[in-house]
Amino acid sequence: VRYKEGQGWHNPTIEARAPISLDPAAAVLHYAQEIFEGMKAYRAADGAVVMFRPDANARRFRESAERMAMAPVPDALFLQAVRELVRTDRDWIPEGENASLYLRPFMIASEAFLGVKPSSEYLFIVIASPVGAYFSAGAVTVWVSEDYTRAAPGGTGAAKCGGNYAASLLAQREAKAHGCDQVLFLDAAEHRWIEEMGGMNIFFVMDDSTLVTPPLGTILPGITRDTILTLARDRGLTVREDAYSIDQCYQDAAAGRLKEVFACGTAAVVTPIGRLRGRRGEIVIGSGNGADPVTETLRTALIGIQRGKAPDPHGWVQRVG
Ligand code: PMP
Repeated sequence: VRYKEGQGWHNPTIEARAPISLDPAAAVLHYAQEIFEGMKAYRAADGAVVMFRPDANARRFRESAERMAMAPVPDALFLQAVRELVRTDRDWIPEGENASLYLRPFMIASEAFLGVKPSSEYLFIVIASPVGAYFSAGAVTVWVSEDYTRAAPGGTGAAKCGGNYAASLLAQREAKAHGCDQVLFLDAAEHRWIEEMGGMNIFFVMDDSTLVTPPLGTILPGITRDTILTLARDRGLTVREDAYSIDQCYQDAAAGRLKEVFACGTAAVVTPIGRLRGRRGEIVIGSGNGADPVTETLRTALIGIQRGKAPDPHGWVQRVG
């Protein structure tokens, strides 16, 4: 779908995937005026094609657009684009518990000019690709990055824009070089407060079954994060959205107070974290293999609702076709 100031959104089409043409002076290529979403369509237990909280993606896309001074895509248009693509591609939706059709809605500034200003033309595109599980089963090891940060107060951390990920690639490479699966970012001001991972939010389970997760602000407001907070409260667990420092985390782990850590996101669903590795050494969480009770309870609860095997009291699952 195209946008031009004065004309609004126009020309919606569904086409076979092919290269798109852009003027070399298109604003996105120079000033990274770009945002995206990540969501999944999959088959529920009864065979229906469903999506999980797509309205939350539509809203976050609109909020990202606002932060990046881009034309907002109305929620109804966003949802229509996604649904129509899923219906068109429904034969590509793989069967299986961990399989889905991954959808990548994104928007780029397409106007050609070289001055630094918001574009007045945009392209909103959705692409789709079948995917399996993001991580193989078991717990992952996370690298605590003390050299690079992802987001500063007043910056774009809460928006899902490509620039945030460009800035995190070097840290992700550093994590891999240290034998880790993912990077964990600390805050920009003090390099002390735990924020989030390269593509997931993070939760800590303390010994009294209290869940702690970093507060919103500079982190991406994950839809899975929000879902887990609700599922945990529904199950009578205490949840706190509180700043948690890396020092405290190492201390709590050493003292046996930190029982479980897990990551969550659309791609990762709920993935246990068995080890944190960093400049100050390595800590093993719980059993180290991730088969720990609170993480497992929340993971099973989320997958159960998503796959239509458990009741959906919050109306999160939407039939697409
Ligand atoms: N943080 C970052 C940096 C991410 O890229 C993602 C994935 N979108 C998340 C958190 C988790 O968000 P969600 O649960 O909406 O997928």
